[in-house]
Amino acid sequence: MSKQVITSQDVPDRQRRLLLGLTAAAPLLAGMGSADARYTTNARIVIAGSGLGGLAVAHRLASALDGANITVIDAKQEHNYQPGYTLVGTGIWEMYKVRDSNAALMPDGVQWVQEAVARFEPDAKMVVTTTGKKIPYDYLVVATGLHLDYAQVEGMDPRLIGQRGIASVYYGPEAAQASWQVMDAFRHKGGQAVMTLPGTPMKCAGAPLKVTFMLADRLKQAGTLGRSQIDFYSAGKNIFGVKPVNDNVLERWSTLGIDVHYEHKLTGIDSDGQRARFTLPDGREQWQRYDFVHVVPPMRAPDAVKSSPLAVQTGPMAAGGWLEVSKETLQHKRYPEVFGIGDINGTPRGKTAATIKKSAPIVVHNLLQVMQGKPADQVFDGYTSCPLLIREGAALLIEFDYEGKLVPSLPLIEPLTDSYMAWLMKYRLLKPAYMSVLKGRV
Ligand SMILES: Cc1cc2nc3c(=O)[nH]c(=O)nc-3n(C[C@H](O)[C@H](O)[C@H](O)COP(=O)(O)OP(=O)(O)OC[C@H]3O[C@@H](n4cnc5c(N)ncnc54)[C@H](O)[C@@H]3O)c2cc1C
Repeated sequence: MSKQVITSQDVPDRQRRLLLGLTAAAPLLAGMGSADARYTTNARIVIAGSGLGGLAVAHRLASALDGANITVIDAKQEHNYQPGYTLVGTGIWEMYKVRDSNAALMPDGVQWVQEAVARFEPDAKMVVTTTGKKIPYDYLVVATGLHLDYAQVEGMDPRLIGQRGIASVYYGPEAAQASWQVMDAFRHKGGQAVMTLPGTPMKCAGAPLKVTFMLADRLKQAGTLGRSQIDFYSAGKNIFGVKPVNDNVLERWSTLGIDVHYEHKLTGIDSDGQRARFTLPDGREQWQRYDFVHVVPPMRAPDAVKSSPLAVQTGPMAAGGWLEVSKETLQHKRYPEVFGIGDINGTPRGKTAATIKKSAPIVVHNLLQVMQGKPADQVFDGYTSCPLLIREGAALLIEFDYEGKLVPSLPLIEPLTDSYMAWLMKYRLLKPAYMSVLKGRV
């Protein structure tokens, strides 16, 4: 259907990294897809969501296609650098560093509908916005991210973040900043800290661990670690899905005196009484008093995806309403003109910005293939990366694939040994790398 016009950029990997001056951020820049040809087409492409995934795909499509009608749909005006929330929430960064304007990041030649998708109607190849606009498409990329389901924790309202010892760095820039304020107040006195981890798939599963490490470090710096107790409550049977990382962190926490409780699901917060309620597998409930609590909510697909035919219909991913894509090609399993990118995907792992870095070129390549009547032939390996803050000035750089196999990409950084280099990457190099991913440059 589409005419091949010119060949796109084919700058070799190494040269591109040098150009970006980000050689040390290689894991974020590695794994670029092969260059695709440039095409002329009048196809209507809708991208639902303008977070990192939606914008990375929009930039790539805008520069790969001539004549396409590309529409991005998202009501959000502000773009947030979410990997910076743990830095803001633990007093390392100022809040302004995680805030940008979406308008400034939208590619030229793309139409931006500033509303949310209320309904996906894939049988009619159409989405309906919150004001009732019907937008037909030939191809759809779902990039809505996920929903933080605080409502599943009784008594927990995100407006409580920053009050009476309640922290939660996930909710946004202000929440991260408010979380630091309660952590800062807590560290001067010390006391009982309660850290939580839900049992659902989640974005950056390392973030709850980073906040725990940094809390211990802040208490140590303030001289109050000795009169404090940190308890970590996991809804599951481990604290991280990659065993060597799980074991490494547990060993470090044991040295720091952090106690871990498994199969304790956070189901309630009594903010007046400063108590957290946990439900055990047999239904029993247990209350824990706290001076500081870090609430990590259960996560699921946004309602518009969850209630649509695009959601996984059966199996473990169905409860969360995640997008039913092939984990290899990221193409929808039942609607071949639909692809998924980022946190919304019902894949076994991979809800990180680093995942998008490696998968956006694959999604775009596979979409271009489908547009030409060819098979989606590039395969994603599930690459996920997480720089785990250990203390101020030290981090672990963890990289793994769908199988949970560690796939380190930098010769100088050993995944299970903390280093200043890994800290520097998180602190200084990852945001420029993230922006390059967003603009489709790597
Ligand atoms: C605390 C924290 C720490 C993290 N740390 C790291 C890290 O160290 N390294 C790393 O690689 N990653 C990290 N991440 C994860 C990373 O930020 C996310 O995986 C990534 O931003 C997801 O991008 P996305 O485009 O899928 O979703 P998002 O960036 O969340 O964007 C989704 C967009 O879709 C929009 N949307 C939602 N519903 C609709 C709808 N119905 N219609 C239209 N639009 C809709 C939203 O408004 C939003 O703009 C972290 C995340 C958090 C929260």
